[in-house]
Amino acid sequence: MFEKILIANRGEIALRIQRACREMGIKTVVVHSEADREAKYVKLADESVCIGPAPSTLSYLSMPAIISAAEVTDAQAIHPGYGFLSENADFAERVEQSGFVFIGPRSESIRLMGDKVSAKQAMIKAGVPCVPGSDGALPDDPKEIVQTARRVGYPVIIKAAGGGGGRGMRVVHTEAALLNAVTMTKTEAGAAFGNPEVYMEKFLENPRHVEIQVLSDSHGNAIWLGERDCSMQRRHQKVLEEAPAPDIPRKIIEKVGERCAEACRKMGYRGAGTFEFLYENGEFYFIEMNTRVQVEHPVTEMITGIDIVQEQIHIAAGEVLRFKQRDVIFRGHAIECRINAEDPFKFIPSPGKITSWHVPGGPGIRVDSHAYDGYFVPPHYDSMIGKVIAYGATRDQAIRRMQIALSEMVVEGIQTNIPLHRELMIDARFIEGGTNIHYLEHKLAEKPDLPKATTKSDKK
Ligand code: ADP
Repeated sequence: MFEKILIANRGEIALRIQRACREMGIKTVVVHSEADREAKYVKLADESVCIGPAPSTLSYLSMPAIISAAEVTDAQAIHPGYGFLSENADFAERVEQSGFVFIGPRSESIRLMGDKVSAKQAMIKAGVPCVPGSDGALPDDPKEIVQTARRVGYPVIIKAAGGGGGRGMRVVHTEAALLNAVTMTKTEAGAAFGNPEVYMEKFLENPRHVEIQVLSDSHGNAIWLGERDCSMQRRHQKVLEEAPAPDIPRKIIEKVGERCAEACRKMGYRGAGTFEFLYENGEFYFIEMNTRVQVEHPVTEMITGIDIVQEQIHIAAGEVLRFKQRDVIFRGHAIECRINAEDPFKFIPSPGKITSWHVPGGPGIRVDSHAYDGYFVPPHYDSMIGKVIAYGATRDQAIRRMQIALSEMVVEGIQTNIPLHRELMIDARFIEGGTNIHYLEHKLAEKPDLPKATTKSDKK
């Protein structure tokens, strides 16, 4: 096992990885930008190295700075967390070439999955069900594009091969709008992702977003840890996640889960990963694979009792997977609310100093956050400042516990989306379960004055 791991990330996930390491008796090095110098989690680490100024291009995305930090501190492995360089195949390659272990998949797997066109082709080959669409990237010939769309059937969605973070997608309802939409998406994709390649999929009208968590070692073993329902989204960004997904027959989940594990074995995949699917009318359709730990991993940890970050480390150290599929027992229900520093009405980021921070507790409540009284939320990064996770024996109990947790939680000095989560926890359709990926957008559009369940402290 490693003696020292460098954490190439910030915020809640940097603290999460640090906690996993400390429990395993591994020393930690945290790299940070000048903007994060004073953060408590940086001080909690065994060592810390400032790798540059606040903008992430000059710090958290600087490969040479991170690798130098690993060299000077004698770290043996690098955990990339999520975001930043976590899905950058060049980084994984450079880390390994510099003699460190990358805590994640081999660079070839990251590269394969990072291109959505090649990822989809690999999945088709591995027998994972995919959304019907173009056979690979769209050609230049307009006639062929029109024919593909006719075959797939409108509405279709044009997606960038290199897209991510909910960007680089365009829905097309009519043939008249098709070619223009393809040209625009190509231009945008070229500028945003450095790859103008686009592909076409049938646009599923009312799907849910359901994903499968996998763990795979470098000895050909792979298991799946159940599913997560992440349908509550705004602008293709997840707001709330839960496990298991309400009302999906276990037989269907088991079948797709086993397909995902088998795909990992076939690809020689190493590490933790997530197969993202759209689910509609009893069918799963693969959309992409994330080759890293995800923000929403705690809900799976709560219902399986398996620490996904620790398993990533065990796998990276070359160990044989410590669990067999039959060891994975699903118990109870978990919900995660992502807490963002943002205006709950307009969703504009709200950085600044937290003047009062009170987190909830009690049975089944877990809070993953690096924030505290007096913490300054820097304006340079993602607005997520933490996650509240509620576990219950049943979904109803998890919801009730989350309602109580959110009512106890106080964040002052900045605005947060806690009022939105409070509203969602009493939403009749959410309580029923199984809402689709458009539900939240529709709800927000119908009720622009939402969230109503504010308290005095939220208005600051
Ligand atoms: P990203 O990598 O940017 O997250 P994804 O391919 O995972 O892109 O898609 C993000 C979201 O876009 C999905 O969760 C879903 O809401 C929507 N989406 C993507 N593909 C389709 C499709 N074929 N039909 C309907 N919605 C889609």
